[in-house]
Amino acid sequence: MRVRNKPWANDFIKDHSEYIVDNPEELKGQWATRFEKDQPIHVEIGTGKGQFIVEMAKEHPEINFLGIEIQQTVIAIALKKVVASELPNLQMVHTDGAGIDTFFDEHELDAIYLNFSDPWPKKRHAKRRLTSPKFLDSYKTVLKKDAPVIFKTDNRGLFEYSIITFNNYGMYFDLLSLDLHNSEYNDDNIETEYEHKFSAKGPIYKVVAYFDK
Ligand code: SAM
Repeated sequence: MRVRNKPWANDFIKDHSEYIVDNPEELKGQWATRFEKDQPIHVEIGTGKGQFIVEMAKEHPEINFLGIEIQQTVIAIALKKVVASELPNLQMVHTDGAGIDTFFDEHELDAIYLNFSDPWPKKRHAKRRLTSPKFLDSYKTVLKKDAPVIFKTDNRGLFEYSIITFNNYGMYFDLLSLDLHNSEYNDDNIETEYEHKFSAKGPIYKVVAYFDK
């Protein structure tokens, strides 16, 4: 999903630097300094327009949340929600999630969320999928031993690719649903913008996977 750059986005980001980090590498190992409390960190890569991460941060004040988004206008739309919610446990990062192992120390993170990631259906673009082995290498480095990758999508092809990739990587599965919204796991589900839009058209798939038991 490419969103055309909007002229207001740059200024809005500059005016709200208290909620958006532009030098994530400099905070490696020191993320607590960006938050009110030193507590577990959960990261969403490809956070889109921010509904999920804002709701998660509201529901879980005991966790610090970071939303990473590569597109400037998209993160500016999310930032509007972040600014309005005034949460002390939520920060945004405008960058490519591919650099995640340069933003965090080894085993600094407590969870990574991937929600409705771009499917990149062509085989030659498979490396760009956020569940491809190179991304898994980085996730394994920055996640704590018992910390999960939590992935939701409406795209069956991407889901199957991801399950196979996780399995070949030797990951362990905790939860796996082929129809999240009609399952017992839906009770505490927080919807993303994409999920809201696409769940009427077909099932939502979800997996929670770990690198170590
Ligand atoms: N998670 C949101 C949702 O469910 O509503 C947005 C889903 S949208 C299909 C995928 C988002 O991931 C886009 O906003 C895109 O810009 C972002 N994205 C894709 N690759 C990324 C990357 N390597 N790093 C950060 N964001 C990325």
